[in-house]
Amino acid sequence: MNARIIERRRLESDLRYAIKHGELRLHFQPRYRIADGQMVGAEALVRWQHPVRGLIPPDTFIPIAEESGLILALSNWVINTACNCAAQWPNSLFVSINLSPIEFRQGNLIERIQQTLHDSGIDPARVELEITESVMLEDAAGALEVMRTLKRLGVRISMDDFGTGYSSLSYLREFPFDGLKIDRSFLSRLVESEDDKAIVQAIVGLGRALSLTVTAEGIETAEHLRLLKAVSCDEGQGYYLSRPLEIGAFNALVEHAGAKSIV
Ligand code: C2E
Ligand code: MG
Ligand code: MG
Repeated sequence: MNARIIERRRLESDLRYAIKHGELRLHFQPRYRIADGQMVGAEALVRWQHPVRGLIPPDTFIPIAEESGLILALSNWVINTACNCAAQWPNSLFVSINLSPIEFRQGNLIERIQQTLHDSGIDPARVELEITESVMLEDAAGALEVMRTLKRLGVRISMDDFGTGYSSLSYLREFPFDGLKIDRSFLSRLVESEDDKAIVQAIVGLGRALSLTVTAEGIETAEHLRLLKAVSCDEGQGYYLSRPLEIGAFNALVEHAGAKSIV
């Protein structure tokens, strides 16, 4: 118990140092339109290049950042870096950025986004913010107000990890979402489970009814892609299409994107 607390404190102070001293890395995972295989954008995913522990995945340090209050500084770095990188991409590509529920409660999210849009010069229509249902569970009225203001800035908003929480239809209907992302747990059982096939098909139908872009996460095989195409899922990302890439590799892929099609 004691050792765990000490380890955690250590990680927290290392993380504080990391944010200030450039140890964070941003990878980009391409997102494709399933119907024709065109790349449409990319999701920014943060990593921590720890000098001793190596590359640490976000699931390990985002919770620490959230509990220690470091999440605002971390997310500022992510939002700025993502928008500055994406401003250099072709205009047809958007960047998708994950937000923490904490940012809806504190830290002037709207001003921060507005400032970054201004500083990077990126067209707000090319920026998508991914939020999870927990944002609405905590304070639905407050979240609605923040989301409406964000929409007025011109950015898009999508619901991440759809299907893992309450997946409330009223959230999808009443909040200004532009898209939803089907959690990858449904994809992992897609081939063997008729139930999951039916669920994915139903979510695609739901998205269509509510005019939302439906994205499937975790496409790992050609079979996944085939099944998603069969149910007319709009967009997808996953290791089969491309892993998250360092910015250099991502830019190289974009340069050759004209020649590359996933279908
Ligand atoms: P997420 O937003 O749902 O991101 C998708 C995760 O699935 C990423 O993990 C991605 O690398 C992984 N993934 C993509 N394709 C596949 C696939 O085909 N198979 C499998 N098994 N996994 C796939 P990652 O990068 O480890 O990120 C984990 C979570 O950490 C993200 O889930 C997101 O909730 C959070 N996160 C990442 N970057 C940020 C950030 O900048 N800010 C915040 N607040 N959270 C972040
Ligand atoms: Mg995400
Ligand atoms: Mg997700």
